[in-house]
Amino acid sequence: LASRDFHPDDTVIEVKGVKIGGEHLAIMGGPCAVESPEQIDEIAKLVKAAGAQILRGGAFKPRTGPYSFQGIGVEGLKMMAEAGERHGLLTITEVMTPEYVDVCAEYADILQVGTRNMQNFDLLRALGTCGRPVLLKRGFSATYDELLNAAEYILAGGNRDVMLCERGIRTFETYTRNTLDLSAIPVLQGLSHLPVISDPSHGTGRRELVEPMAKASVAAGANGLIIEMHTDPDNSMTGDGVQSLFPDQFSNLLQDLEKLAPLV
Ligand code: PEP
Ligand code: MN
Repeated sequence: LASRDFHPDDTVIEVKGVKIGGEHLAIMGGPCAVESPEQIDEIAKLVKAAGAQILRGGAFKPRTGPYSFQGIGVEGLKMMAEAGERHGLLTITEVMTPEYVDVCAEYADILQVGTRNMQNFDLLRALGTCGRPVLLKRGFSATYDELLNAAEYILAGGNRDVMLCERGIRTFETYTRNTLDLSAIPVLQGLSHLPVISDPSHGTGRRELVEPMAKASVAAGANGLIIEMHTDPDNSMTGDGVQSLFPDQFSNLLQDLEKLAPLV
């Protein structure tokens, strides 16, 4: 079902009038984690003003260590839903377990599968019937074939609205957090009709690399970008402040991107 062989035309996913896939560029921006109503509202306002269509924010965070901040849970989902509604943005959030699929689908427009859960097959199966589009992140050590097979689990359950996301893979390099595999964009688009989204934030782990790699992703044909932005990155509640753009950087980047491809 994911293969281009049996579905030659690009899939365009329509969510409340916003089309993801095709010629336009879908931009998802926002913090790594929802922290408070004020934080997500302020960021939503800036995301909207910059010209993006989708607000990102994690309420359930897959942290490497069990003692790190794990996200604020369902309360965070509600805060983000309110902020999205107030500012006219769609929302995307990560769902980590099958039990939370329903509540995440209740409050968010798009569900995200994190890199660490790409092969959580029970979760993928649950997303096959969740009634929401899914952004599936590539596992940081997964091949293209493994990513496409993971997508197949969701598609096989009856959900045809799946986006693939390149978010960087693990290599021997330590300067960057991950190595953004730009080749994944044209390769996946050749193998599959599904929209391909790039995440230059997790793909590099460094704020100064987000702009060049966002532009490179668009040049490589990405159908959209998911980018972390924070009003106070130094005090963000996850470690991802170092890769979060300041609001003016986010807004300037979108102005540049609009010259490369029309925003949705
Ligand atoms: C995120 O988007 O904040 C996130 C945890 O991403 P990834 O699963 O790619 O690490
Ligand atoms: Mn993050």
